[in-house]
Amino acid sequence: MTAVALAFDLGGTDLRAAIVSRAGEVRQSLTVPTRARDGVDAVLDQMASLAEKLTAQADDEIAGVGLGAPGPLDPVAGIMIAPPTLAGWHDIPVVERLSARLGLPVFLDNDANVAALGEWHYGAGRGFETVLFVTVSTGIGGGVVSHGRIFHGSRGLAVEIGHMTLSGSGPTCLCGNVGCFEALASGTALGHRGAEAALRPGGEKIAAAQSDIGRPGARAVVEAARVGDPVALALIAQEAEWLGIGLTNLLHIFSPDIVVIGGGLSNAFDLLIGGIRSVVATRAMSAYRDVVIVRAELGTNAGLVGAAGLVLPAQGVVTRGGDQT
Ligand SMILES: [Zn+2]
Repeated sequence: MTAVALAFDLGGTDLRAAIVSRAGEVRQSLTVPTRARDGVDAVLDQMASLAEKLTAQADDEIAGVGLGAPGPLDPVAGIMIAPPTLAGWHDIPVVERLSARLGLPVFLDNDANVAALGEWHYGAGRGFETVLFVTVSTGIGGGVVSHGRIFHGSRGLAVEIGHMTLSGSGPTCLCGNVGCFEALASGTALGHRGAEAALRPGGEKIAAAQSDIGRPGARAVVEAARVGDPVALALIAQEAEWLGIGLTNLLHIFSPDIVVIGGGLSNAFDLLIGGIRSVVATRAMSAYRDVVIVRAELGTNAGLVGAAGLVLPAQGVVTRGGDQT
């Protein structure tokens, strides 16, 4: 019998649970719509019910529970502070409460950190010493794993990269500031620029893609760019430039061996990477320019296998460009 982890990926839309092996293999998984508006007990009931179903089928010993959840949260104290997508979750000691329900040790971290750990442990960052994971989707988040450890900073709040300021002006961010990385370079920002372009002369291909998909958004811009539309390609080039500027700042701060890009917009990684590399080659100081930049490998499983990584730390991993951990 080998130890496995029970992993949860708690999102505002879906709650996913899985049994994950030490090798990062998702053995069994279940997904239910999160009862996000019904308060803490309703969601804890859902988690307990999923745990019961999954552990009834599992032959292996459950070493513990890994939980990836939306921030802000305190991974050390095990407290979810105020996730905007879950009603009623204010200063909830979720580690203590879930552990009492399940009778197992529980390890908590925020979803971007968990995905970073997953990519370092089992995905595109495997074998690298320091991994910077950047997720570009509705917003922008990130995580840094170095020598197998998530970089947490004070109260676990580090690497909130979506809210670093890239410009003294520009669109207003959800955080209330202007010129945040997220406000300029998220999939949402690209979708807004696409929707504006669709209304102008030359924006017909983007407008057609929006109507095929049923709504405006980054995907419409990407689809129009894939058929060679020059207006969409110009928006992609602008997007790549903002991403490149943001990444260049992060290279100077964290000096990662590899940058792993995930999230919905990583579906357009092939269209964006040339522009991103060109910005890094121009703006980064020369010592930082040879960083590897790749697309994430774990896709929607990153949260689950990363949460398992909180429970089952990598053992004896030989890192590329570094020491043995
Ligand atoms: Zn912001």
